[in-house]
Amino acid sequence: MVDFYRLEPARQKELAFRRLRTYLRTVVAPFHPAFRKSGVDVARIRSPEDLRRIPIVTKEEVRADPTAFILQPSVPGISLPHATYPLGRMRLLRYLWQAVMNRPQEATARFRRQTLREKVTQRICREWLPIHFHASSGLTGESTLAAYTYHDLAFVLPELAASLMVRPDRPDPAVLYPEWTHRSLSLMPGAPHLAFFQPLFLKLFLGASAFETFGGRVIPTERQIEIFSKGRFHGVAAVPSYLIYWLRRAVEMVEAGQIPPFGEQFLGAAVGAEPISDAMRRRIHELTEKLGAHPKFRIIETYGSTELKWAGAECSEGSTIHLNPRFYFWELLHPKTREPVGAGEPGVLVFSHIDWRGTVFIRYWTGDLIRGGLLHDRCPRCGYTFVRIRGPIARAERDFTKIKGTLVPLQDLVAEIRDTPGVRNCQVILDREENDGRDRMIVRLLLESGSKAEVVSEAVRHNVRNAMEVTPDEIVIEREVEAFEAELFGRTGIKAEYVVERRPVYL
Ligand SMILES: [Zn+2]
Repeated sequence: MVDFYRLEPARQKELAFRRLRTYLRTVVAPFHPAFRKSGVDVARIRSPEDLRRIPIVTKEEVRADPTAFILQPSVPGISLPHATYPLGRMRLLRYLWQAVMNRPQEATARFRRQTLREKVTQRICREWLPIHFHASSGLTGESTLAAYTYHDLAFVLPELAASLMVRPDRPDPAVLYPEWTHRSLSLMPGAPHLAFFQPLFLKLFLGASAFETFGGRVIPTERQIEIFSKGRFHGVAAVPSYLIYWLRRAVEMVEAGQIPPFGEQFLGAAVGAEPISDAMRRRIHELTEKLGAHPKFRIIETYGSTELKWAGAECSEGSTIHLNPRFYFWELLHPKTREPVGAGEPGVLVFSHIDWRGTVFIRYWTGDLIRGGLLHDRCPRCGYTFVRIRGPIARAERDFTKIKGTLVPLQDLVAEIRDTPGVRNCQVILDREENDGRDRMIVRLLLESGSKAEVVSEAVRHNVRNAMEVTPDEIVIEREVEAFEAELFGRTGIKAEYVVERRPVYL
């Protein structure tokens, strides 16, 4: 039998939908509180077109009641927040058989004598009891929650982790591929976030070697760089904006003679949690070159979220991000009409979990606008069949704001400033005049050493005015590098806070 990931795209699509349909009928319909409430008759979902019968789920609905999106069969004697179906007889018989046969084999049997009932309970818990959680906080302070059960850890994550080792049958000599001997340093702050746990998942489910720094608040940046240098690590996992800061410090330390250059041992970086612009990519390459990194140094971009419960990655730099077609069903919809867009056309990414337990979303509206479109094909780089998304990735809603009456996309505004030559880092503050209620845009700039404040300020003013049709009211040149960058990454601990909204009403 041909492996799922080597199937012809049309065949794979068909099987993916079939897997989704089975999952909807046997797991989601009986045990998913929010789906049950929607009143959708799963028997009528026979083709991908029928999926339109299922209402789209938004972040706001999830935040209103996250427990309604956690699978929960009703079990006698246990009170649950939502009423669902009890576990069926077939499922109970399977747990009973597993308990009697001790399959899969349980070491606990060697340490405690359990009744048959307890053994069955253990197996029910392993499939359904949430045991691991990620939470992400939004700008408004409300958080999104995702729960995993042991089933996810045992049956879903290992295959997803393995997919990151993808390599073409005939490797390209110009490309570096991940190797079993590689060791990486994770710069992700220790927090209940996917960004922190994904490298850990790779360790647990793949056997990938990694040292978790828990971020700059636990191990200061300079110390991280020393550890990387002494430990002769091969790669880093980081948020791109923080990685640039980190690499700059490393270059400064090399120039000051504090550490030797990393050398050709330094093979790559996996970046995630925020989109990476071409200018950022170029900057990372320039900095790693200064550190003597391998000439084929690779930056691998990832795409994930709390809701997704996993992040897909590029198979090689610039390959476009590969999304898993076996544990998710992907759709790309028009931002307004919410109808499917044509191949390669921009649209908002919508996904459905397949075979997961714990938190499960069916037709979740990510709000991420994939400008380069979605492809479901055989990747020309690795030769495997995946769903691939082509950036740039932008927020479809909410990240626009009105400044002085002009609608401004915040991500683009930041990119215009950050990518101006001479700018090392930046922050935009949006405020409102107390007297006349007019908007004020203040741009804080941290300059590259050697660049002139007046020249860079004028270039920033010019770029912003040209691209956004609004002009900054004030440009503040920041001198304290450490303090400014600490502040920039301080609030979320993961992403740089490029825009600070101080106006009383957000919009
Ligand atoms: Zn590929």
